[in-house]
Amino acid sequence: MTEEELKQFKASLSITAVATALGVPVVHGRCRCFYPTRHAHGDRTPSVSFSEERGTFRCWVCDDVRGDVISLVQIVKNCSFLEALNWLKESYGFLVPGAASNPVPVQNRTVEQNAALVAKVAMREAALEYQPPEPAKELVSEDERKKIILSFLKMLSPVDKTPAAAYLARRRIYKPIWDRMLLRTITDYGALNNKLKETYDLEVLKYVGLFNEKGNLRYYKHPLFFPYLDTKRRSCYFQARAIDSTVVPKELNLRGTVPYPYNVSALDQRPGWVYLCEGVVDTLTFLGQRIAAIGIPGVRSFKTEWLPLFKNKSVVLCLDKDEAGRSATEYLQTVFEQAGIRTVVLGEGKGLEHFEKMTMKEGEDINDWFGGKK
Ligand SMILES: [Zn+2]
Repeated sequence: MTEEELKQFKASLSITAVATALGVPVVHGRCRCFYPTRHAHGDRTPSVSFSEERGTFRCWVCDDVRGDVISLVQIVKNCSFLEALNWLKESYGFLVPGAASNPVPVQNRTVEQNAALVAKVAMREAALEYQPPEPAKELVSEDERKKIILSFLKMLSPVDKTPAAAYLARRRIYKPIWDRMLLRTITDYGALNNKLKETYDLEVLKYVGLFNEKGNLRYYKHPLFFPYLDTKRRSCYFQARAIDSTVVPKELNLRGTVPYPYNVSALDQRPGWVYLCEGVVDTLTFLGQRIAAIGIPGVRSFKTEWLPLFKNKSVVLCLDKDEAGRSATEYLQTVFEQAGIRTVVLGEGKGLEHFEKMTMKEGEDINDWFGGKK
């Protein structure tokens, strides 16, 4: 991308919409500082202001909290300039003519058109006149990368009789669900680490995101694996979870784009309700209750390209009862509404057979509600 193209791309983005997509609630052009501990009372009175016109933001206390839409992504996602730019291109570049098309065949034109419209709402101008840059040099092809991830998942063990099984059972997620969703675990980290190094080139393992810079398998502290199965029960994406509650972060996402929501098979194009949860554990909790549910990896990760998958569905939004969950709920209500997809918020449902009166306490999630123990 040339400097001029970069300028145009930035100018076409609404900094407020990007902030919302990142899960940062902007109210009246302001949000709380990303470093609340530097402020009195955790910055209860928001100090960061946004200028939609200039496409900038700044904190009135912190000198280093200021910049444009790219710096915003860098700060919130704690990533490099290039990673931030790539994230923006991934999130908003799909409107560009000739950009990668939706992986799922779209029968419903109206929803598709609406999806594009929704994306445009997130932009100040509809016209995006930048050319996608030359693809970075690939160490292995995309097909090859998927094959490696698939074969990695095949090397893992079923969770039965492992600490991962105990972790799941404490959350009232039992064997029928482990088997159905092909949950996996690492039983011998050292052996797996060596086997992978014997099978693949170390640089390739790092490139596909399985190995860290030090040259070891990333999942030393995250032994529970949730493969994102497609409709053929194959998977080229997964999340790994820590089962020791002191480990931070609790989950590691595989590098790269989330291809579709967790349990995408529930989006079968047949009329009905689907429960949309934050995270895999909540989704599995619903599945254990025989309720059709899908999961998004985090409140910030919903993609408007997924809207056509929701054809014929109505959506029950089941995000956590906390600030991030609420702002994501608002965002998703808008996005679905503009795509012509009906939503209700869990606990506010009218005419819903299940859980019409289900309400969660502040700070609760779905698993808590069903009696899961942390
Ligand atoms: Zn600040």
